[in-house]
Amino acid sequence: METAELVIVGCGPAGATAAREAARAGIHSLVLEKDAIVGEKRVCAAGLRPGFCNEFELPREIVHFDTPRLALFDASGEEHVLTFGPGHTSTREELDGTIARLAREEGAEIRTHALFRELTRDGGRLVLEYADLHEGARKRIAARAIFFAQGATAVLDRSPLRYAQWRDGLMTTLQYRIYLDRPAIPVTYETLEMHYYVGRSGRQIVGWMFPKKDHLAIGLGVIGKMEGTALRTELDALTERIAARLYPHCGVTRQKVEGHLLYMGAPRPVLSADAVMLGGTAAGLVDATNGEGIYEAAMSGRLAAEALLAHRDDPPRAARRYANGVKRRFVGKLRRRLKLMHFLEREPQRFGILFEQLATTPGLPQILHGETRPRTLRDRAILYAQMLKFLYKAA
Ligand SMILES: Cc1cc2nc3c(=O)[nH]c(=O)nc-3n(C[C@H](O)[C@H](O)[C@H](O)COP(=O)(O)OP(=O)(O)OC[C@H]3O[C@@H](n4cnc5c(N)ncnc54)[C@H](O)[C@@H]3O)c2cc1C
Repeated sequence: METAELVIVGCGPAGATAAREAARAGIHSLVLEKDAIVGEKRVCAAGLRPGFCNEFELPREIVHFDTPRLALFDASGEEHVLTFGPGHTSTREELDGTIARLAREEGAEIRTHALFRELTRDGGRLVLEYADLHEGARKRIAARAIFFAQGATAVLDRSPLRYAQWRDGLMTTLQYRIYLDRPAIPVTYETLEMHYYVGRSGRQIVGWMFPKKDHLAIGLGVIGKMEGTALRTELDALTERIAARLYPHCGVTRQKVEGHLLYMGAPRPVLSADAVMLGGTAAGLVDATNGEGIYEAAMSGRLAAEALLAHRDDPPRAARRYANGVKRRFVGKLRRRLKLMHFLEREPQRFGILFEQLATTPGLPQILHGETRPRTLRDRAILYAQMLKFLYKAA
């Protein structure tokens, strides 16, 4: 049977970063990716947080626009502008494709058309079975360590990572790529727009507009399932509002529609078992207030590679170290974000109160965003005072 030191399932930002960084450290890494071309089918708004490309040593060519403005629209449609960063926009074809190319350059093997099916044990060994969609054959690989990173649709029931609620917390999303016959107004290309409102259906909607070189990505999501026509009606209404503000003078030459599931729940309770690690959105590492998960995914890939390097001769220990690292870095913060989102959704006018505070308190967005920078006494005082103010007003 074929063997590999590290097998990674899924070549999104989590899997590709793990492969790149593990291979760079000399770990024999093999990625199984079901799609034919990495990143080509990913439906995503591909907004990247400030500093993402530097932090993950990615070339600037993948950046479409630097976006210093974050425009938050509250339940009444009022705009609150935060200026920081800048964030960036890209496409997943470019982002995932680039990380995968760099992983290959470091020596990782990325096998496309490879659909993971099952994890079993053969004696003491972990064995992955996958379908080679090209050859139409079932194949098996014995792995010393495994990093699962299949994204929002991961279900690993028959594995040591068994979990009863894989399908909870999923959001249905729909997005248009809108191609215009001339540029929209200039501010469009400096801005990431997020919209939080109750839709015609009475359900809480999170919408966005992210500018790309040749199109605008306008999309929305709603927790749980929503029938296709109703979802499209909601998206048409949002698109109309955005069009009236940003491109009333433009014609639309093409409009592509795409949809996918986005995970907006809590981090999964079990992140490792034996020599198996769970990363990225499959591990529930998504910020429920805004759907950001690319950074968390890439960082989980990095933590997996680092843990394996630290305990190369003891993969189960590496997996435990990985899970502890992810917990320390993300789990508490992401749980708090989910709680905040639920609190806001219960009384949608709370979005406006929060956004107003973020927009008018100097330094607050930077403090909240700078998660690796140690917080000074002043930072803590600002945060505490703002939290009390928000709770008082929200109540
Ligand atoms: C509409 C939408 C908009 C979003 N916008 C943003 C945004 O602007 N910014 C942001 O940070 N995040 C955004 N996200 C979230 C972001 O897409 C995810 O958090 C991120 O993609 C997670 O990366 P990942 O590597 O964990 O998984 P993914 O990127 O989902 O990659 C998983 C990979 O695994 C492969 N795979 C799945 N199953 C198998 C299998 N059985 N065998 C082999 N391969 C398999 C898939 O083909 C895929 O390539 C958005 C999500 C959606 C749906």
